[in-house]
Amino acid sequence: IAQLKDVIIKPDAPSSLLLDKHADYIAAYGSKKDDYVTYLYCFFQLVIFFMILSGKMDTINVDKAVEFVLSCMNFDGGFGCRPGSESHAGQIYCCTGFLSLTGQLHQLNADLLGWWLCERQLPSGGLNGRPEKLPDVCYSWWVLASLKIIGRIHWIDKAKLRRFILACQDEETGGFADRPGDMVDPFHTLFGVAGLSLLGDEQIKAVNPVLCMPEDVLQRIGLQPDLLS
Ligand SMILES: [Zn+2]
Repeated sequence: IAQLKDVIIKPDAPSSLLLDKHADYIAAYGSKKDDYVTYLYCFFQLVIFFMILSGKMDTINVDKAVEFVLSCMNFDGGFGCRPGSESHAGQIYCCTGFLSLTGQLHQLNADLLGWWLCERQLPSGGLNGRPEKLPDVCYSWWVLASLKIIGRIHWIDKAKLRRFILACQDEETGGFADRPGDMVDPFHTLFGVAGLSLLGDEQIKAVNPVLCMPEDVLQRIGLQPDLLS
């Protein structure tokens, strides 16, 4: 039997949320601006978000865009980066988010996709992005947000995932790493905190799974992207 790729969570790994430490860690970035890294993943959604906010959705051919996204859907219910490419949780998040913003969530096979997403949970509780890969805190967001969008978040073991995310904190510097014991960074810190919010942590404000923004901000501007139930 091939050995499953996973991590072991040590008994002394952090198991409570170190919010003050994380606030200090993120605040310190204000003084080292050159360290910022741009991530392209959210660009697609940001563009759509901007267009919705500015009333400019009609400047792109939404039907054509939906047609393209659906052409990237695979037999397993997931999405790859182009037609025929392997399903990947990051792409699935972008595509489900896009279909939510364009009112096309009914085009998904939610049960099949939910099954594929739940299969991403490993014995450590962490989630990977596709089969045969190690768990990583950022997939707590890509996978969990997708499950929330399609109304299947209760299909994973929430307590085990929470344990994994908390174990990825650095007790000294604050911040979250991709895996327990690795170097922390702002990217995994955001998705660690946002993942805990989706899991229902009451110390953190509710986050919207489509836009990764606080729900109270979206309510204030009257924007509630579609979710499946
Ligand atoms: Zn990651």
